[in-house]
Amino acid sequence: MSAAIQMDETCMNVEKPHLGRPAGRRRPRKTNVPDASSPGSKKGWTHKLSRKAMYITVAVVVAAAAFLAVAIANANRPSLYAVTIDGELVGYTDNKDLVAEIVWRLSEEESFRVGAEAIPSCEVDCQKVKWEKDLEVTDPDQLGEILKERIGFVASGYVICVNGQDVVALCSEEAARGALDDLRQSYINSIVKPGHATVEEVLIKEKIDIVEQEVPTSLFRSKQEAVEILSRGTDKMLSYVVQRGDSLWTIAMANNMTVEDLRKANPNIEGDLIREGDNLNLIVPDPYVTLQSREIVTYTVSIPYSTQVTYDPSMWPWQEEVIQAGKSGEKEVVEEIVRENGEEVSRTKISEKILSYPVTKKIVRGSKQVPEMGSGELAWPVQGTITSRFGPRWGTYHRGVDIGAPHGTPVIAADSGMVIFAGWNGGYGNLVKIAHGSNMQTWYAHLSEFAVSTGQEVKKGDVIGYVGSTGRSTGPHLHFEVHVDGVAKDPLSFYK
Ligand SMILES: [Zn+2]
Repeated sequence: MSAAIQMDETCMNVEKPHLGRPAGRRRPRKTNVPDASSPGSKKGWTHKLSRKAMYITVAVVVAAAAFLAVAIANANRPSLYAVTIDGELVGYTDNKDLVAEIVWRLSEEESFRVGAEAIPSCEVDCQKVKWEKDLEVTDPDQLGEILKERIGFVASGYVICVNGQDVVALCSEEAARGALDDLRQSYINSIVKPGHATVEEVLIKEKIDIVEQEVPTSLFRSKQEAVEILSRGTDKMLSYVVQRGDSLWTIAMANNMTVEDLRKANPNIEGDLIREGDNLNLIVPDPYVTLQSREIVTYTVSIPYSTQVTYDPSMWPWQEEVIQAGKSGEKEVVEEIVRENGEEVSRTKISEKILSYPVTKKIVRGSKQVPEMGSGELAWPVQGTITSRFGPRWGTYHRGVDIGAPHGTPVIAADSGMVIFAGWNGGYGNLVKIAHGSNMQTWYAHLSEFAVSTGQEVKKGDVIGYVGSTGRSTGPHLHFEVHVDGVAKDPLSFYK
């Protein structure tokens, strides 16, 4: 690219014009008064003048007058110049210095705008032409406008090259380096939550060069613009203003995009929410650079405690004593996380340090066997009618029988035994479990009230509680289960 302004020597390098008055105009006067300066000779000036001398004087005056007339005519008709840009005619001027001045002023303005010395990238020329009838001098203001519009400039710029490809030009090396620093910093800000991690380094994976070269000034970008171009992957901007009735889908379709792309281009969209008048970006970011970060993350992890159970044959199985409370430990884990453009690509454990060891929970649990207490023949636990039988029911398994009875109806122990549980148990509501020995148990659920407590011995027929609708129940009834060796059996099979 040629940077030089090449102008006609005669056009640009002339000295200041003499306001249209040719230099030769003074000459006749000079030649006309050589003797007048001689004092003392004034007195006899006319007497001593010979006839011949007088003729010569008259001839000289006449010649001078003629010369003057031509000179005045020339002054009224100054030289005309055709102004061309790269050979293309753009106007006429009679003041070629004005053209040089305009070009100089435009160069200064452009230099100021881009922050680097701008020089025209085209050839502005003034060629003397002969006056012809139709030719007119272009209005100087208009000529200025034409030159401003038509003259391009180049300046020495600093181009950020990514893998050898010119991406963006800035006015100084400092600005170019600053743009790369800002890019890294904005990346760090985007990935790191305060106090969570320290970023060890941020690299740009691609090969980056800053190359000084001549660049059209129209391609110069500010530091901020350069950061955006590098991270968006283009300096194109294309946006769309949301109209009434639009959806992400209709906008995407109309612009040959997918909804996913539209979301990528507008990460600030939450859900499907767009409003009339919103400005959506239609350029999907495809960054020129891959920012790779290495973070060191330190966090603490809880170490769960274990439970150690010892058995005491003097205690019932539902009795338990905690001899040592458990306590979780804590460890500090240090990891290295590598991300590329925000996406985690690897995570490596660097170290692990135990800050505190967990304390084992120690408990003593009873192992005393419930004695043989049942007769093996069960009494019906409540007065009422069976509303639901044992077995598969509504896609689940009904583990007992339901006996409908009014709220508050007494519920009795189906056989003698020990109350091993009397309390709340989720869907069962208020539940009583009685162990009868021989690994047999009976369960009474949805009770409104208890008449026994855990550990109590009961005789067959003793009231243990009252019908209710606690837990997962749709009305007052007793849910009754019979377990043998830990398995629920059909209660009706125990009644012959
Ligand atoms: Zn039931």
